[in-house]
Amino acid sequence: MEDYSSNLIRLLEQLEREQTLPVENYERLITERNDTVIRVAAEMARHLCDRFFSRNVYTRGLIEFSNICQNDCFYCGLRHSKSIRRYRLTLDEILRSCRLAWELDYRTFVLQSGEDMYFTRDRLVEIIQSIREEFPEAALTLSIGERDRACYQACFDAGADRFLLRHESADAEHYASLHPAGLALESRMQCLQDLKEIGYQVGAGFMVGSPGQTARHIAQDLKFIETFDPEMVGVGPFIPSEGTPFAEEKAGSLELSCYVVSLLRIQNPQRLIPATTAVASLNPEGRIRALDSGANVIMPNVTPLNVRGDYMLYNGKICITEEAHAYRDSVDALLAKHGYERHVGRGDYKEDRHALR
Ligand code: SF4
Repeated sequence: MEDYSSNLIRLLEQLEREQTLPVENYERLITERNDTVIRVAAEMARHLCDRFFSRNVYTRGLIEFSNICQNDCFYCGLRHSKSIRRYRLTLDEILRSCRLAWELDYRTFVLQSGEDMYFTRDRLVEIIQSIREEFPEAALTLSIGERDRACYQACFDAGADRFLLRHESADAEHYASLHPAGLALESRMQCLQDLKEIGYQVGAGFMVGSPGQTARHIAQDLKFIETFDPEMVGVGPFIPSEGTPFAEEKAGSLELSCYVVSLLRIQNPQRLIPATTAVASLNPEGRIRALDSGANVIMPNVTPLNVRGDYMLYNGKICITEEAHAYRDSVDALLAKHGYERHVGRGDYKEDRHALR
């Protein structure tokens, strides 16, 4: 046990020093981990996070503006073939959600949807320009799936700053086992590359414990993140969704999800890493456990309450009934209790963390 621990702790130190490891060593960090290594990784990660961000936690107001999707990902509660009540927010409703987010001190708005092609390039540009006009100081993040490069470029030119597009698995075969034919890792990777070249702050990420995922797959994901080097990385446990092909699969573990957060923080201390809704949905302690493991972002939901329950990506998703002010206050209380503070600001990725605040 001791030997295992000290060898792995040396790998953690090497990762901190060099910000790179061979994929085999990432795999060892996963397969040979024990409680001591997990604890040391979390301490290192939190220490690095404190150094660059102090105890600040960034917030983003999440607006789920359409639950309509043309895709049929096997793990997702919004998949096209699932029979659920569908909705789209109007431009007015989106703007009202932005006003609510602003009033709550959230200085980043995240516009998230399924791959809903009703929102053409022109419609997206209109929404982005309207938000920009009213909130010139806010940051705007899109999470709308795969589009062509021209669409990404038009949205960027209209004023979008960031884009979240999880890669889900860096292994082509594993990726194919999570998605129907027609969705290929190659095109996901091309989208990520396009987004980066255009100039977005880009977020990639993956589920921990998705069906068929091995330690090797997670190691490949860590290697991909290391080389692609996105500004943001979202990782959370896989949680099954009823009425999908993976409904009976086992959920991913909180412990491994948080450990992966620690490894990502050690790999690049400046990165923006959310304590995801999925970790909080899996376990009431999940959010704090993720922050204590090196996460530094929370994304409170400001989607109108009359549709929020229709954006059920997986079973037991939290925050579907909570009024936004009450939720913000409960987040504040939770953070204060654990020695964190909600940071009011855009919370951009900055290479030079001395420029923070
Ligand atoms: S994961 Fe995204 S693209 Fe896939 S079905 Fe769900 S909403 Fe659609």
